[in-house]
Order: sequence, then structure tokens, then C-alpha cells
Amino acid sequence: MLDDKRVRDDTPGCGSGLVFLDSAGSSLPPRIVTDTVIGHLRREAEIGGYRAASERLDDLAAVKTAIGALINAAPSSIALSDSATRSWADFFFSVPLGPGDRILISGAEYASNAIAALRRAAATGATVEQIPSDGSGQIDLEALAAMVDERVKLVSVLHVPTNGGLVNPAAEATRIAHSVGALVLLDACQSAGQLALDVVELGVDALSVTGRKWLRGPRGTGFLYLRPELAASMVPERLDLHSAEWSAPTEYTLAPDASRFEFWECDVAARLGLGAAVRYLLELGPDDVYEAVAARAEHLRKSLPEIDGVTVRDTGIRHNGIVSFTVDGVESVEVRDHLAAQDITVTVSHASSTLLDMSARGLGSVVRASPHCFVGFEELDRFVAAVAAL
Ligand SMILES: *Cc1c(COP(=O)(O)O)cnc(C)c1O
Repeated sequence: MLDDKRVRDDTPGCGSGLVFLDSAGSSLPPRIVTDTVIGHLRREAEIGGYRAASERLDDLAAVKTAIGALINAAPSSIALSDSATRSWADFFFSVPLGPGDRILISGAEYASNAIAALRRAAATGATVEQIPSDGSGQIDLEALAAMVDERVKLVSVLHVPTNGGLVNPAAEATRIAHSVGALVLLDACQSAGQLALDVVELGVDALSVTGRKWLRGPRGTGFLYLRPELAASMVPERLDLHSAEWSAPTEYTLAPDASRFEFWECDVAARLGLGAAVRYLLELGPDDVYEAVAARAEHLRKSLPEIDGVTVRDTGIRHNGIVSFTVDGVESVEVRDHLAAQDITVTVSHASSTLLDMSARGLGSVVRASPHCFVGFEELDRFVAAVAAL
């Protein structure tokens, strides 16, 4: 069981009267994260960025160790970046593609991934196809098995969509993709920090995550996991003197591990902050945190439908901490603004973020409530009452 009081005491944004339901957007960090970032920025101002970083080499290495412990990966299989999109694209653009090759994307695909896929298809002559969703809204595994062949080079599996509560069967989809030799890139942006992630169990070739959402890290952070067996064969589109070494006038040698997907320059303070966020999660006990998130989302999924005119829009079989809903006769942005005026933070997910899914369901937007473990049940009830009063 999570120590609710400790979690709230550790979160400066709690207890100021704000009901914060946007951890799927950009969460409230624990105090240690903010202190770590500010502390390092101060140190850089005192002695310069290079020396400040050299004082923290062990802590910088520990960022990947902590991430590895969270997702069951070796630190050398992690490449740090400045966003999930950057990590996703870095891997995606390194997958060799040619005319007639097929890229499969999920029905819940995130806009940035779909746009990159369309761009690459136009440049290479590959095609982009959607994996059908089943009646529940998740990836249709039978349809996926029926559509794959050896021309499929990459399957993009969206673990948890940005617009709602489903969890796609990622391990099963990966097995099917691997049966024809396709690579699997998992968008775990909305699952990392709220659901257990084990890259060995999942079997994926790569996985992308952002720092600021459920992991409660700083903005401008993210990472890529690269299956160790692939580290030697995947060549990033862009290289620098960190991802490769200029070893002779006309030669360079690629870094032997996932760091070939990193550039040398980075926001060191933010990186240390990400490490602090992941270590904090490990210290709290990830399973207890995941359980606390699930209990809060379940509370909302029970309470919201009891309000006249409110429809919970979550699909899928297995659910997660994102609860999406609409209110009859009230635009989602109006719901959001009305709640904001009462110090309740939710966000709106528009159709263009998850176009395939939202079009299939005829939805223009949904209100998204994503409570993390630091949200109290009485705060959830205050939110539900405010929706009921609309
Ligand atoms: C937020 C989000 C992303 C993008 O993350 P960034 O860090 O903003 O690049 C990708 N996929 C999903 C499902 C998301 O919700």
C-alpha cells in the first residue's frame, strides 16, 4: 500500500487547493525532481556547465540504471533524449525501407508517429496501413495475424493511447509481428510510470517514453529502449561525436550500444531530474503506485456515468489511468475551462491527436482526466461534483 500522506507531502503542487488531473499531459513532479534540476542549474552558474557535469558523472550514469531497473533493461540499452517523439522518430527513421515495404500503425496511433510514417512512406515508396481494431477498440490480433507478411518491416504498437483508457495487447502483437520478421516499436509514452513495463516480457525491439507524464520528470526529457541484439545493426540517420567516433580521416566507428541514438549535447539538469523522478518511483514501489493510479481511475469510471448526460468514452478490455468522457450539449473545451475556473485541471484530447480512432468513433474531442497517485479521493469527488453541476 502506498503511503498517501508521504506522496502528497513530497508533491509541492498538492494541497494548494488544486485538483490536478493531467498526468497524461504534464504531471506534478515530486520535490526531489525540482530540487535536483534547480540545484544543478545553480551549480552550472557557479562553476560552468562542463565542470558541473563532471561532478555528477555517477549520477548521470545512474539515470539509465534507474530506467533499466524500471523496465527490466540493461542501462546500455537505453538512449536518453529530449522527448518521446524524438526517440520514436530516431528509431523509426533508422529502419531500412524501400518501395513495396509495409509499415503498420495502430488504430490508436499518436499523430506525430502517423505523420512521420506518412512522410517516410512518401520518401521511400513504402505504404502505411492501419491494424484494424476489434469490437472492444484494441488491436485486433486475428486481423493483425491475417494481414502480416514478409513485406511488413515495422509494426508501431501504441500501448496506451493519448485519448483514453485502453491498454493494447503489446506482447501478443509483438509475437505476431516477429513471426514475419518485422520490427516492433512500442509507444509506451502513456504507460511508463502507471503500468508495469517489462521489455523482456513484451519482447519489443524498441520502446519510446517521455519524462514529464506518468514518470513525473521534467519537461524536455525522454528515452528510447533498444533491444540489445539490435544495437549493432541499427544505424541512426544522424550521428555526432558521441553516437560515433571519428576514428580515421574517412572513417567513423559507431557507439556499440544504444547511446548511438544519443547526441552529445543535452540538458544535464533535466536529465538528472529524470533520474530523480524514476528513482523516486522505484523507492515508492512501482506496483503500489500503479495500483493507486488504477484505483483512482476506477473511482472515476464508476462515478462519472452516474451523472446525467456524461458518457465515459474509454474503449478496450484492460483499462489504465486515463479516463476520457464527453458531456451532452457541452463542448469539451467548455468543460475544461469551466473546471479550470474552479482550480480543477483536466485537458482536452482533440480528434487530430488520434485521428483514426476518433474518426472511427465520430468524436471531435474528449475531456481527459488522468489522476496520478498523489490525487486524493475527496479531490476526485470534488471534480465529479463540478462536472455534475455543469
Ligand atoms: C504525449 C505522447 C507522445 C509524445 O510525447 P512527447 O514527449 O511530447 O514527444 C507520444 N505518444 C503518446 C501516446 C503520447 O500521449
